[in-house]
Amino acid sequence: MAIRIKPITEMIPQWTAITQDKISHPDHGDFKFDQVFGPQCDNLNIFHQVGADLVDKLFDGFNATLIAYGMTGSGKTYTMLGEGINNNINNNIGIVELCGSYIFDKTQIDLDNKYNITVSYLEIYNEKIHDLLDVVKKNEDLKLRSDPAQVGGGIHVVGLTEKRCQDCNELMKWVKMGELSRKTGKTDYNTRSSRSHAIIQIKLITTDSFTGNIRSNILSLCDLAGSERATAQLERRKEGAYINKSLLALGTVISKLSVESNGKDNGNVGSSSVMGHIPYRDSKLTRLLQPSLSGNSIVTTICTIDPRREASAETINTLRFGSRAKNISLSISRKSINTGLASGNGANTNELEKDRKIKELANLVKEQEHIIRDLTQEKIQGGG
Ligand code: ADP
Ligand code: MG
Repeated sequence: MAIRIKPITEMIPQWTAITQDKISHPDHGDFKFDQVFGPQCDNLNIFHQVGADLVDKLFDGFNATLIAYGMTGSGKTYTMLGEGINNNINNNIGIVELCGSYIFDKTQIDLDNKYNITVSYLEIYNEKIHDLLDVVKKNEDLKLRSDPAQVGGGIHVVGLTEKRCQDCNELMKWVKMGELSRKTGKTDYNTRSSRSHAIIQIKLITTDSFTGNIRSNILSLCDLAGSERATAQLERRKEGAYINKSLLALGTVISKLSVESNGKDNGNVGSSSVMGHIPYRDSKLTRLLQPSLSGNSIVTTICTIDPRREASAETINTLRFGSRAKNISLSISRKSINTGLASGNGANTNELEKDRKIKELANLVKEQEHIIRDLTQEKIQGGG
């Protein structure tokens, strides 16, 4: 759970990073988080501190999620996509591209596995899911389906385009195309982009070269709708005004998970018998992210902050959201480690143990082949 403070030049910021994990306001006091990135921090810096770890976890067999949360104009898109993704400005590239490039670097140096990488890009607007990589059908509303056989623990977007990528340039080509299709054909891009969630999913399919075992994991990169909309619209609920249901539901799910996990943190976070009812089904966003919030996964949230005086009420709401998110991502990562890798009786552990054993035996056979060849040669030379 991290906070990022946007740089401002026109006035003195009200909110400042006083240490690497504290943000402070003269009247509201200090708030502590895992990391607080001050205005001088760039995207590369943030990638090194939070993005790289998510990619490492992805390769370790987790689903990994990065969520950018904050009011409109506070820097969510700047963090995710960098500066001028469609203007070919290359300074300050975003976390998406930095993660993508790290993913491909990692596949290059790993000789034990073969990798397939695909990307999808969708938008949730007014509770409708739109495929941003399908220019013909981009206005259709795609359905969500539960399917335990699917990658990511069982939620599948029916008909969503997945593009195979050979390298990071290809990945970014699809991301740019998705951005273009968000922008074109909409009468008011700014209204829409501040009300919609944009989700890039990178799927990593790993085939073990020795055993042939296949594993799939998803990195979800979410640029959420502006958080001010949800609060403002909640007040107008009775008038039947549009509410960003997904953003409100995410807040509820996260706060329930954190309340339940506090004090009951015995490694069972996310298990419904212990947790009671978590309303994942209340929105498209929480259903889509359910495997990432409840399963074998790791979630990091970056809350972006506009430090000006007039944004202070929103800043406090954002920090409140951040303190809840902090608790669950920590508990979930611990749970993932317990159930996925470290416990002695999980199915995954057995599979990993089997893989390890097979590799060990394959290496032993290779070694013995060398010994036999050497001995045979010695014998031939000795005998001849
Ligand atoms: P959001 O997506 O949260 O609505 P944006 O990412 O579009 O906000 O940011 C709004 C404006 O502020 C953009 O012009 C962006 O370039 C600028 N901006 C945001 N964060 C930073 C930052 N950390 N450094 C420099 N400029 C930033
Ligand atoms: Mg934005």
